[in-house]
Amino acid sequence: MSVSAAESRRKKWYIGVRHIKMIKIDLPEHVKKIISVLEESGYEAYAVGGCVRDSLLGKEPKDWDITTSAKPFQVKELFYKTIDTGIAHGTVTVMISGVGYEVTTYRIDGEYEDGRHPKEVVFTGNLTEDLKRRDFTINAMAYSDRSGIVDEFDGVGDLKRGVIRCVGVPEERFHEDALRILRAVRFSAVLDFAIEEQTWEAVCNLSSTLQKISRERIQTELDKLLTSDHPDRVTELERAGILQAVFEGEPGSPSAAAEDRCDNRPAVTGEEPGISGAARRLMNTPKDHFLRWGVFISCIPYQHVLKGLKFDNQTIRICEILKKFKDIPLKTDKPYLRHLAVQIGVDYMEKYYFPYRRAMENVDPELLLETEAVFSQMREDGDCMSMRTLAVKGRDLLEIGIPSGAKMGEILNGLFELVLNDASMNRRDVLLAEARKRMGYCN
Ligand code: ATP
Ligand code: MG
Repeated sequence: MSVSAAESRRKKWYIGVRHIKMIKIDLPEHVKKIISVLEESGYEAYAVGGCVRDSLLGKEPKDWDITTSAKPFQVKELFYKTIDTGIAHGTVTVMISGVGYEVTTYRIDGEYEDGRHPKEVVFTGNLTEDLKRRDFTINAMAYSDRSGIVDEFDGVGDLKRGVIRCVGVPEERFHEDALRILRAVRFSAVLDFAIEEQTWEAVCNLSSTLQKISRERIQTELDKLLTSDHPDRVTELERAGILQAVFEGEPGSPSAAAEDRCDNRPAVTGEEPGISGAARRLMNTPKDHFLRWGVFISCIPYQHVLKGLKFDNQTIRICEILKKFKDIPLKTDKPYLRHLAVQIGVDYMEKYYFPYRRAMENVDPELLLETEAVFSQMREDGDCMSMRTLAVKGRDLLEIGIPSGAKMGEILNGLFELVLNDASMNRRDVLLAEARKRMGYCN
C-alpha cells in the first residue's frame, strides 16, 4: 500500500524524529494559555490527539483539543467563558476571543452507544489511562511544552512507518466502538498510511458490526475519506466488507439489499466495473465534497445512499442531479445546452456538471472541452437560462391585463421556452408582444 508520496513524506519525517525529546510543537497562544492556567492551578494539561499527530506530520491542525486532570467543574472555575459541551463526558469548551477549545478531563471509556459518547465514563487522574482509550497509536499522543511528547504506544514510530495501528487489542477496541473500523480506513486514506496487519484482520473480521453504528457518524468518516488525497481507498472498504455492511442494511434483511441494490452490471456502461472503476475516477475528481460524492454514488451498485446516510438536502440534490444526467449525450448546440442548464441548474454546470462528466470518463474529452467553451460563451453573452433572467415577469403580464393564475404560468413558460430556443428573443418588447398574441390580443 506504500505510495511514493508517503515515502517522501516519511523521509522528511525521519529527519525530525531522531531527537524526539527535542521536538517542540508550536502551540497556538490560546492553547499555551489554557495549558498554563491549568498547570499553574496544580493540574496537568496537554494538547492531545489529532493536533499532536498533525503537528508532527508538519500539517496545520484543524482544531486543538486539550486533555487535563482537572474535573469539568474545576475547568469552569478557571476560565471566564466556558460552554458545557459534553459535561457528562468531561468536555467543557473554553472560549478565548471567540474561539472555542475543547478541554476534556482524563477519562476511561466504556462501550460507545450514540454519536460521540461512550455509555459510561469514569474520570481518572492518569494521563496514560486517557491515552489508552484512544483509537490508534498515532492519535494517542499528548504534548505540552513542559513535558514534551508523551507517547506511550509508539505513535511516533507508527507515524514514521506510516502505519495505522490500534491502541491495544484491535478486536476488543472494535467491539467497544465499531466506528473505529471505518476510521482505520479513513485515516489510511487521509494520511496515505497502511493499516497494520492485526488491525486490518480485525477490520475485516468485524466489518459487519458497523451496521449498528449511527448513519451520521458513518457519514462523517466516509466524507473525510472521499475528500482525502486517497479516495481510491474505497477499494479497501469493499475488500473489508465495510461498504456492504454500511449500504446493504441489516443481515437477514434481504429486502434492504434487494431494494437498494441495482444489478451487478457496472454503473457506467461498457466500462471498468465495480469499485476499481470508482477508485480510479475518484482519484481524477477534484477534491470537492459534491463532486466526489456525485462520482462515488454513480459508480457503486447501491441507491439512495445519501439519504440513507442522512446527508443534508443540498448534497442529496446536487449529487442526485449529477447522477441522473451522468450519461446523456453532450452537444455544442446552444438550445440543447440551455435546456440542459435549466434541468441541472445553470450555476451548477461549470462548477459541478462538466468536471463531473470529465471525471466519469464517459464523454469524448475534446467534445467536453468544446461544450464548455460554448457554454462559457453563452454565460458571457448573458443568455437566459433561468426564469429569474427572463426579460418579462409576472407583473409585466399583469400590466397588460393577463390575470395571474394557471394561464399566466402557461404563458410565462411558453415565453421561457422561446428564449431557450432563441436567446435573442429575451427582450421585453418582443416577449410582451408574444404574450399578447398568446392571449389572443392584437398588437
Ligand atoms: P481529524 O483531524 O479528522 O479531526 P482527529 O484525530 O482530530 O482527526 P477526531 O474524530 O476529531 O479525530 O477525534 C479527536 C481524538 O479523539 C482522536 O485523535 C482520538 O484520540 C480520539 N477519538 C475520536 N474518536 C474516537 C473513537 N471512536 N474511539 C477512540 N478514540 C477516539
Ligand atoms: Mg479532530
